[in-house]
Amino acid sequence: MTLNTSTAPLPAVAAVPGPAALDARSVSAWFGERKVLDRVSLTMPAHTVTALIGPSGCGKSTFLRTLNRMHELIPGATLAGEVLLGESDIYAPARKLTEVRRHIGMVFQKPNPFPAMSIYDNVTAGLKLTGTRVRRGERDDLVEECLLRAGLWKEVRDRLRQPGGALSGGQQQRLCIARALAVRPTVLLMDEPCSALDPTSTRRVEETIADLIDMTVVIVTHNMQQARRVSDQCAFFLAEEGAPGVIVESGSTAEVFESPADERTADYVNGRF
Ligand code: ADP
Ligand code: MG
Repeated sequence: MTLNTSTAPLPAVAAVPGPAALDARSVSAWFGERKVLDRVSLTMPAHTVTALIGPSGCGKSTFLRTLNRMHELIPGATLAGEVLLGESDIYAPARKLTEVRRHIGMVFQKPNPFPAMSIYDNVTAGLKLTGTRVRRGERDDLVEECLLRAGLWKEVRDRLRQPGGALSGGQQQRLCIARALAVRPTVLLMDEPCSALDPTSTRRVEETIADLIDMTVVIVTHNMQQARRVSDQCAFFLAEEGAPGVIVESGSTAEVFESPADERTADYVNGRF
């Protein structure tokens, strides 16, 4: 378990052994003059699920956006630090953004399928954007596979040509997961993917995450039961009055929940703030 007691950059940590899929090193982030993340380091080992937990406004979404270069798209937003994908920094000047996006997929809190586009075309929408080539004859199989993995196939197999916007909110979110999976990313970032969903869809999404054993998942969640159910390791973020967000503590999910080293973590995971 790693506890942040100093103001020096934290060493990268891995609660679960194995090679890192993604390694954030001393990542700081600003919106204009305002610093919202301070030297956050976190190793996300390959084939594991990392849950980012903590109160609203502590920088979880911002941190997630630094992991696939979405932060830089926000006007006035800047950052420092490194994010290694395998061996190389996603911020290296030679690194192509489309390549980063192909490796690192993202699912947002609010389902955002292309509403007028068919369910089928929604699944394949990311291929062109990320320059992923799939032969025409293999597309049907890919669409089926991704919808199956996202737990949506049975519900939509007979209406693949209907618009994505005609699905329920929970189905739309699973469609977005299928769309993210279609480019075969190695890492999937999920920002509160279930907070707008009913319990059945939430369960389906959790089952999908559990099945993504070949991938590395980073999920922001406010649901402590969900963090316990789906994650291997947890990082507790906190932004104290006027200060930027930091990781107070990270470790295996069992450690963080059963024997947190910091009182603030204990209070948070036990619902005391
Ligand atoms: P969390 O996801 O933990 O709720 P965020 O990463 O969304 O936290 O926000 C961290 C801080 O950055 C908050 O104080 C928030 O108000 C601020 N913030 C988030 N997005 C923006 C933005 N686009 N412009 C300015 N400030 C922002
Ligand atoms: Mg957020």
